[in-house]
Amino acid sequence: MLDCYDIIVIGGGAAATSAVLTAKNRGKSIAVITNGEETSSLFKAERITNYPGLPPMSGSEMTVLFRRQIEENADVVIRGRALNVLPMDESFGVAVGNDFYQCRSLIIAAGITREKLYPGESEYLGRGVSYCATCDGMLYRGKTVAVIGNGHEAEEDAAFLESIGCRVIRLRENGRYEIKGGVKANCVLFRGEEFAVDGVFIIKDTVSVTRLVPGLSYENGGIVTERDMSTSVPGVFAAGDCTGKPYQLAKAVGEGNIAALSACDYLSRVSALA
Ligand SMILES: Cc1cc2nc3c(=O)[nH]c(=O)nc-3n(C[C@H](O)[C@H](O)[C@H](O)COP(=O)(O)OP(=O)(O)OC[C@H]3O[C@@H](n4cnc5c(N)ncnc54)[C@H](O)[C@@H]3O)c2cc1C
Repeated sequence: MLDCYDIIVIGGGAAATSAVLTAKNRGKSIAVITNGEETSSLFKAERITNYPGLPPMSGSEMTVLFRRQIEENADVVIRGRALNVLPMDESFGVAVGNDFYQCRSLIIAAGITREKLYPGESEYLGRGVSYCATCDGMLYRGKTVAVIGNGHEAEEDAAFLESIGCRVIRLRENGRYEIKGGVKANCVLFRGEEFAVDGVFIIKDTVSVTRLVPGLSYENGGIVTERDMSTSVPGVFAAGDCTGKPYQLAKAVGEGNIAALSACDYLSRVSALA
C-alpha cells in the first residue's frame, strides 16, 4: 500500500521551502519532489540584496540554505522530475520516472518552466518518443536510441539505456532537432544530418506546468490562482514564479506560505466532510 502524504510539493526553490516550513508547522506529512538545486532560478543569481533578514549572498549560497531546510523538514525528498499528476477520487498520484507517489493535496512550486517542444515531439510521443528511460527503456533493448538532454538525469538515463543493451546517441538539449518518422519515430534530424533511431528519449529538467496537471488554467505565462493560491483544480495550489510575474524571491516565499496554509485548510474541510 502506498503512503498517502497530506501534501506533495513539486519544486525545491524558495516557494517550495516556504510551503514546506509552514505545512510542517501545521503538522502535515509532506513529500517534496524536486530536481537538483542547480536547476532553480535562484541558483543563477549572482548576488541577492533584497531579501529581508539575510545579508547579501549569492543565489547558489541561498539555494543551499533552502535545500537544507527542505531536507530537515519534509518527511521525504524525492530527487527527480515529476512527470505528470493524476487526479484520483480524493487524492492525487504523481509519477516520477517509474515511481508513483500519492497525496491528498498538491502544491506546485515549479518555478518558470519554459518548455520548447521539438517539431515531431508531441506527434510521436508514445510512438517512439518517451520522457522516461526507466519506464520505456526495455522496449528498445538491442536497438538504437537518441537521448536528448543536458543534465545529470539525461546522463544517468543514457547510461541506464546502455546498461540494458541499447546503442545510445547522446544529443545536447539546446540543438534544433526535428523528430521524424512514419507510424513511429525513426529519425532525429539536426542541421541536415540524420540520425537513424528506433526511439528518442527527451530528458528535460522540467515539464511544462501546462502538461503537468490536467485541467489547470494557465494564462499570461503563469498558473491562474486566487488570492489563497488555489488553482482551477480543487486541492491543487501553486506558488512562486510558476504563478507569473513578478519573478522575485520574496513574492515566491510569500506565496509558498499562503499555498501551504490554504492546503491545510482544504485538508481540514475535506476531512470534516468525510
Ligand atoms: C539571474 C537571476 C537573478 C535573480 N536575482 C534576483 C534578485 O536579486 N532578487 C530577487 O528577489 N529575485 C531574483 N531572481 C528571481 C528569483 O530567483 C526567483 O523569483 C525565485 O527563485 C523563484 O522561486 P521558485 O521557488 O518559484 O522557483 P525556482 O527557484 O526556480 O525553483 C523551482 C524548482 O522546481 C524544480 N522543478 C520544476 N519542475 C519540476 C518538476 N516537474 N519536477 C521536479 N522539480 C521541478 C526546478 O527544477 C527548480 O529547482 C533572480 C533570478 C535569476 C534567474
